[in-house]
Amino acid sequence: MIDIHCHLLPAVDDGPETVEQAIEMAKRAASEGVTAIVVTPHAFHPQFETGELNVQHAASTLQTILHKEGISLDLYPGQEIRIFGDLVEALEKGEALSLAGSRYVLVEFPSDSVPAYAEQLFFGLQTEGYTPVIAHPERNKEFATNPKRLMDFVSSGALSQITTSSLTGEFGQNVQELAFTFLRNGLSHLIASDAHSTGRRTFYWTDVEAVVTKELGQDKWETYMTNAEAIVKDEFIFIDPPVLPIKNWRGKWKK
Ligand code: FE
Repeated sequence: MIDIHCHLLPAVDDGPETVEQAIEMAKRAASEGVTAIVVTPHAFHPQFETGELNVQHAASTLQTILHKEGISLDLYPGQEIRIFGDLVEALEKGEALSLAGSRYVLVEFPSDSVPAYAEQLFFGLQTEGYTPVIAHPERNKEFATNPKRLMDFVSSGALSQITTSSLTGEFGQNVQELAFTFLRNGLSHLIASDAHSTGRRTFYWTDVEAVVTKELGQDKWETYMTNAEAIVKDEFIFIDPPVLPIKNWRGKWKK
């Protein structure tokens, strides 16, 4: 399995504070069947000072440590980029990083809104050959109340990534149901851990494989795993046309 969203680098953001903690996370990931991780520290985020961080260098330093520890895990550089107006220019200048040097760019929205300029920014990104991947839309208040907004991004060529712990219920039942609804309706195409530690915000890969296979079937699970592989190989990801989710008379998302 390939994890395309993970805060594994030590002492850079709200991920592990020490190298030892990063090693523990890496061991946990490997024990759950993860073979490669795209390290995605927060970038251009108001709460985290990561502007001076050289992700490539930090990733290769940690890679060397993991090899010495005998942990078999390939690391690729990436970022979880908080959306901002000059993202295209930052990518072109190498100040912002795509996932594993691919065309795919992991973009995070504020948790309570989707900025009005996002559509235009995504258009600009795609014009330059990038494909935006929206991080955890199931945890965004606007997508929760108005899935049409997410549908419009996906219809225009964006992808989205659901977090493992949303599917296992760590963020509550509403987020869990929304996460499954987005997957079921083709509004989300990737699953990643967004792990920050070996504590509450950890990988949940073993658990998520079980729940996704049970709810959506083995084929769907394999599609999500293949899509993650396509990201690090910079290959095209084929998706089914998205379907707008609707609620039943009880206010629950229809299956
Ligand atoms: Fe994250």
